[in-house]
Amino acid sequence: MNHSKIILVLSLLCAACLSCATPRGTPGAPGDMQPGQRPDLSSDEAGLWMYMDQIESRLKTSGRVVTDPGLNAYLRQIVCKLDPVHCPDIRVYIVDTPHFNASMAPNGCMQVWTGLMLRAENEAQLAYVLGHEMAHYLRRHTLQQWQTVRNTSTALAFFSLATAAAGVGFAGDLAQLIAIGAIFAYSRDQEREADEIGFETMAKAGYEPVQASQIWGDLLAEEEAGGKSAKSIFFATHPTTTERIATLRDMADKTAKTRSSWIEGREEYLNATKPFRKEWLREEVQKGNYHGSMVFLNRLLKDQDDSAEVHFFLGELYRLRGEKDDCENACSEYRKALKLGNPPPEIHRSLGVVHLRMGKAKDARDSFQEYLNVNPDASDRQIIESYINRLR
Ligand SMILES: [Zn+2]
Repeated sequence: MNHSKIILVLSLLCAACLSCATPRGTPGAPGDMQPGQRPDLSSDEAGLWMYMDQIESRLKTSGRVVTDPGLNAYLRQIVCKLDPVHCPDIRVYIVDTPHFNASMAPNGCMQVWTGLMLRAENEAQLAYVLGHEMAHYLRRHTLQQWQTVRNTSTALAFFSLATAAAGVGFAGDLAQLIAIGAIFAYSRDQEREADEIGFETMAKAGYEPVQASQIWGDLLAEEEAGGKSAKSIFFATHPTTTERIATLRDMADKTAKTRSSWIEGREEYLNATKPFRKEWLREEVQKGNYHGSMVFLNRLLKDQDDSAEVHFFLGELYRLRGEKDDCENACSEYRKALKLGNPPPEIHRSLGVVHLRMGKAKDARDSFQEYLNVNPDASDRQIIESYINRLR
């Protein structure tokens, strides 16, 4: 099983365990998770934790966890600001995969995927997502779900999946994994509850309330514009409706007046993620969902003003897609990036490749030469030199 499949299995299992249908305060629902609380060893909950502990171990060694201390510390301090009492019980893993997703397992293993980090516009939006996922932990939604399904065939499916994910040999493809995740889809009540608690948590910490609906709204717009191919894994396990977004907007309208100033944290967020954004953008365009990525990159262009880096990656998207007129489209984006100044240096190599495809040998040679001029220590120098020599 390759890394991305491992991550998908892990995440869907974590997400799968978050389902429940019990609204806030329902009689018979387990009480909130208390700080430092561990399940009774003889309980069902302890069994669920044990499975999730194994899955967490697999996640740690999957090679896909971002280990950068600065970025981890940044997320951790937001979690602790949101809920100082439960923060020691929660472990946050930043998972390097270009899809929008976040999940929380019953044992406190939270995943935040880099596709989500790339899309969040500010700290307040990330704080809302973290608060939403923490609500699933706090309310013990996994246990509630387990109590709902334990006498059904779904329970067997859950355990065979958990065993496969904790061991080796699971061979599910993306579509299969999404279908499995859908078995445990969140109920509306459960999502409402997580939305509500997530919202209250972020607002209480001083984060700008309107940002909660904004991150869902942006993602929904991306998916609607991108069609079926842009459907995110997140929405496969988190059914988002326009009603939820509207409810969050209403809550924000009411809450906005309760304080004179709120934290958006845009600069802090962009500074914390800056060293990683280029790599995340590269993974975004390489994931092959060209329509969805294009909608997202165009939003980024508007949001971050005209950015040479974003124009470069739009060019990369056209170059990789390779449909009719995409060589011209790629060149046009590369030119915009060069005009704005300071694009990633590999732009000249990409221009060389596109010129080559267009049959413009001299332009291709000049671009490859420029690439070597600006990258004297390029690791692919020999290959590029051989191209230049062939084009003479
Ligand atoms: Zn949720």
